[in-house]
This record gives sequence, C-alpha cells and structure tokens, in this order.
Amino acid sequence: MRFLITAGPTHEYLDDVRYLANPSSGKMGFAVARAARQHGHAVDLVTGPTPLRDPPGVATHRVTSALEMRRVSLLLLRRADAVVMTAAVGDYRPARRVRGKLKKTGRALTLRLIENPDILREIGRKKGRRPLVGFALEVQDAEANARKKLVAKRCDLVVLNGPGTFGADHGVFRFLTPAGDLGPARGRTKAAVAREIVRWVETRRQNE
Ligand code: C5P
Repeated sequence: MRFLITAGPTHEYLDDVRYLANPSSGKMGFAVARAARQHGHAVDLVTGPTPLRDPPGVATHRVTSALEMRRVSLLLLRRADAVVMTAAVGDYRPARRVRGKLKKTGRALTLRLIENPDILREIGRKKGRRPLVGFALEVQDAEANARKKLVAKRCDLVVLNGPGTFGADHGVFRFLTPAGDLGPARGRTKAAVAREIVRWVETRRQNE
C-alpha cells in the first residue's frame, strides 16, 4: 500500500521575515510515516516546517504554507491508497503578503486574515475508496466535536487527542469511527499509536 501522510504546522507569511504559526512539532505524522514504512508500505510524507529529520525510506515533501500543503497533497493523492492527515494546518493566512519587511508606524496595525482551504475536507470528497484518517485536537466537548468532524470531513477514522499532546512524545488518544467509539488507543506514545493507526488502515483495506 502507499500512504499519504500530512504532518507539522504551516507557516503563513505576512511579509518576507514574519509568519503566523502554531506549536505543532510534526512528531505524530513522522511517527505514522515510520510505522507505515516499518510495516512494508510506501510513504509520501508532506510536512510543514519542522526540525525533524526525514524518516529513512520515506519520500518526504517539505512545504511551508497551507496552500502549498494543499497543492502537494492533492497531487500525491492520485497515487495514494490510504491517507492519514495529522498536520496542524493554519486556519487563516494574511490576506496579502508584504514584500520586504513591514515598517513600524507608531500606530496600531490591523492584520486582515482570510481562511485557508480545509485540505482534509477536500480529500474527503475526492478519496473514493481510500481509507481516510483525520485528527481532532479538542479542548471542550471533545467527543461531540470530533464526531462532527468525522462526519463533515468524511473520515473513516478520527483520532481524538487533547492539547497536552502538542510537541510531546505521548498523549491520550481515542479512536472514533462512523460506526462508533472504538475507545482509547492502547498505547500512550505517539510511536505506539502510530502503529495502531497503520494496523487499523491495513485491516480496513483487507475487509473491503
Ligand atoms: O477542523 P480541525 O482543524 O480541527 O480538523 C483537524 C483535522 O483536519 C486534522 O486531520 C488536520 O490535519 C485536518 N485539516 C486540514 N486542513 C485544514 C485544517 C485541518 O487538512 N485547513
């Protein structure tokens, strides 16, 4: 099987030297890429900026912004058999990018932001029979919100986690499918949860 995996944050530039971002480390997506590779699968990993090194044997595609991540992911979707989207894509980008460096004026600065496309939602519409896994990082009404995402984005599995997993090597994860709640992941480390995700995708493909 060939996996398409997204990972990391996106950087949304407002001028040539400043950007909007979030503290995603990319560790979850890199762990899924490594696990898929270890299970003998081919992997395209599309990642936003992260200091993590390319996992061995994985085709790693480095991007910066949400628009770039969307473009590269949609191109690679054509050859993918399964998709796992862990990236913390920036919801907004500056309406325009200033050439050079914004200058101080002594007054308040208003930034106009516009919404980025939702890559997972778009892939949900185009996925065909490919298993599609999304992530949901929720703070309040976690399960209800994750379930809404599962339906709205046409995922086959949503992995729910809390804000404590940001940047960490472990966390508390819960697996939700359209059929119901599969309960908490057995593992607590991202490496263990990544293996569970890969096994879930394999089983789903076999049962098709
Ligand atoms: O709606 P929310 O951002 O919480 O959904 C999270 C899921 O959607 C993750 O799987 C994330 O990778 C994906 N996503 C995306 N493109 C966006 C926003 C989220 O692919 N613009």
